[in-house]
Amino acid sequence: MEGPQLPPRGVTLQADVDLSRRHFLSRLAAAGVVVAGAGSGALALVSYRDDAAASSKGPSHAWCMVIDLRSCDGCKLCTIACQKRHQLPVEQTWIKVNSVTNSAGDTYPMPVPCMMCENPPCMYVCPVGATFRTDEGLVLVDQDTCVGSRACMAACPYEARYFNWSEPPPVKRMPFPPTPQMPVPQQKGTVGKCVLCADRLPHGELPACVDECPMGVLYIGDLVTDVAVNGLGATVVLSEFLKANDAVRFKEEFGTNPRVYYILGHGQNLSGTS
Ligand code: SF4
Repeated sequence: MEGPQLPPRGVTLQADVDLSRRHFLSRLAAAGVVVAGAGSGALALVSYRDDAAASSKGPSHAWCMVIDLRSCDGCKLCTIACQKRHQLPVEQTWIKVNSVTNSAGDTYPMPVPCMMCENPPCMYVCPVGATFRTDEGLVLVDQDTCVGSRACMAACPYEARYFNWSEPPPVKRMPFPPTPQMPVPQQKGTVGKCVLCADRLPHGELPACVDECPMGVLYIGDLVTDVAVNGLGATVVLSEFLKANDAVRFKEEFGTNPRVYYILGHGQNLSGTS
């Protein structure tokens, strides 16, 4: 397997040393000014953008994630950071790091969170409406509504969900009762999955996995402002970043319109990945 590769082609990086790396909303806003000022160059690259989200009448943000596989060394610190923040037992992985083999027989790591699909089959099959999609594109589960049918688990092509068969282990006392944005503690008999740290985003804080990735592999992105940032302080023009690096989406053939974009780097072919 090739070693980590470096700076992506055609990308504008902005070091933002004055700001905490966790607090990125101001970086999005600042970079948004740059994007607007760049005129049609950035804005013309709409093929990776959700047109509804990009509408001036739409929501303020349309969250997505970019995963740059060229730099991933498989350390799984993203998984661990997520489990620590959400007090998950070791067997529950809201972002897992799969080992995938390419056509040459080489294996490489591939982080897989919930894809926050624009067209989420998990939501459509839920018999009680427990899974819903926010205006900003986050697919969440209301534990209080979930009846544990597990239809969503069968419908998800990414195996992003699991069932709490037993009472989840005790958690440290939380300052607030559980919400779909921060479903901790979980409830027995309900389905769990990644929430993209939905409780952090409104405060300009990075998701735990993005924040803790030491390789800068994971980016939280916003299709409205057309900006993405990683935990190492890199800020990129999202559409340019995706286009310049030939980003792809996982299992697009299912028509789910995932909001997670992958940049390949080890001869991977996600269309052949299960
Ligand atoms: Fe639903 Fe699975 Fe898509 Fe997440 S990845 S939104 S759980 S179908």
